[in-house]
Amino acid sequence: MTGGPRNLSTDVLVIGAGPAGLMAARECAAGGLGTIVVEKKKEIGSPVQTSGATYIAEVRRYGVPSSLLHRVEHIRFLSSREEARFRNEKEGIAVLDVRGTLQFLAEQAAAKGARLYPATRALEPVLNRGVVQGAVVLTPQGARQTIEAGVTIDATGLASISARRVLGFPGFRRFGVGLEYDLYAPRWPQEEFVLAVGSDIAPTGYAWVFPWGRARVRVGVGVTYPEGQGVDLQACLERFIEKDRRFSAPLAGSGCIEVHKGFIPDEAFPDEPAADGLLIIGDAAGQASALAGEGIRFCMEMGFLAAGAAREAVRKGDPSKAVLAKAHAAWRKKHGRNFRIALEINKRMASFSDAQWDKAVQVLRRLSSRQFLQFLKTDFTLGLFLGVLARNPGLAKKALVRRVLKDLT
Ligand SMILES: Cc1cc2nc3c(=O)[nH]c(=O)nc-3n(C[C@H](O)[C@H](O)[C@H](O)COP(=O)(O)OP(=O)(O)OC[C@H]3O[C@@H](n4cnc5c(N)ncnc54)[C@H](O)[C@@H]3O)c2cc1C
Repeated sequence: MTGGPRNLSTDVLVIGAGPAGLMAARECAAGGLGTIVVEKKKEIGSPVQTSGATYIAEVRRYGVPSSLLHRVEHIRFLSSREEARFRNEKEGIAVLDVRGTLQFLAEQAAAKGARLYPATRALEPVLNRGVVQGAVVLTPQGARQTIEAGVTIDATGLASISARRVLGFPGFRRFGVGLEYDLYAPRWPQEEFVLAVGSDIAPTGYAWVFPWGRARVRVGVGVTYPEGQGVDLQACLERFIEKDRRFSAPLAGSGCIEVHKGFIPDEAFPDEPAADGLLIIGDAAGQASALAGEGIRFCMEMGFLAAGAAREAVRKGDPSKAVLAKAHAAWRKKHGRNFRIALEINKRMASFSDAQWDKAVQVLRRLSSRQFLQFLKTDFTLGLFLGVLARNPGLAKKALVRRVLKDLT
């Protein structure tokens, strides 16, 4: 179907074909629901807007094949003067072929019967006495069409279009902005994954080097807004690639294949991201971890849960907020506390001086690889923090650590 949707009616309308929307669409279609996906981009998965770092076990659980994952061997965390180095776990960090993964999910959704419409922008939800019943979309030909749906799943990322219209949400005020070059960099060791911090690199944020196979490397810089307002991301990125002696040699002679830019919410969604007939999921509902801006697997999981709620709503003929919001309750039960802690840490880190970062890297260096990976993964447990304290007793005096421990007990 390339001509765009005509006035249609369906069980579920998914707006946005990112990790959250595609997972929801695949699972809704697999559950026998009539499913339509509209995506404003002309090509699903392109242009890429994410760096693709993720965790093997988690995304394999959602069917992403190993062939789309590039596992790294070690992780380096660098500040201005310090470095900590960790071994990766067998099922630990990998970098996704992002376009390949999103197209794979789209293919699976289509194979299960979902109808996909790229180049189709949702303009506004259809509201009938306070109940969302689909959306008005702009087709590739520029025509306005209505798609009626029993359940509408908004997975529009930072735009979060339905939340603005239906819940009066003013939009995210604190968010990350990232600029990234996808390089052909044959000298970069493909087993090496780098995170770097410091005022000369990325004030209020961090830089990264994520290899993803075929001599390709995503090198980027991200800052947190509004703290990082006015930071010239391009200048930071060019300096990082060309002038930082720790990276310029292995990145020398590289060629830029793609430029990516994207935004990611760095704050909790203020309300329940649902209404009668409507579920808001993924970045649109603030479901990426603020610790390191990692959202892909969390958003996939939410898509999966959203499909479960949509199936129940359609089966019962009851798309009420009470039924749909069960998906959010399940997600929050698993990740809510960890995300709260991640946000606290993110806010603290956004104002770190270089000296504070150097100290933080000294602390990290005392952790085992397993502890560091668990921390980076936003998997905060009492056991983890007690283990970290055993290796760094001085941290017990820090207000943030005391707050986290209180939250975990
Ligand atoms: C620079 C950067 C680097 C990142 N790196 C990582 C990383 O390494 N690992 C990680 O796990 N996470 C990373 N993230 C976060 C991750 O990309 C997001 O959390 C994740 O993509 C969110 O998925 P989503 O499906 O909710 O939204 P998105 O991926 O944002 O997808 C939303 C989709 O909705 C579409 N859309 C928007 N409005 C409309 C409309 N009106 N009509 C139709 N379609 C619409 C968009 O075109 C888009 O395709 C990064 C983010 C950025 C910005």
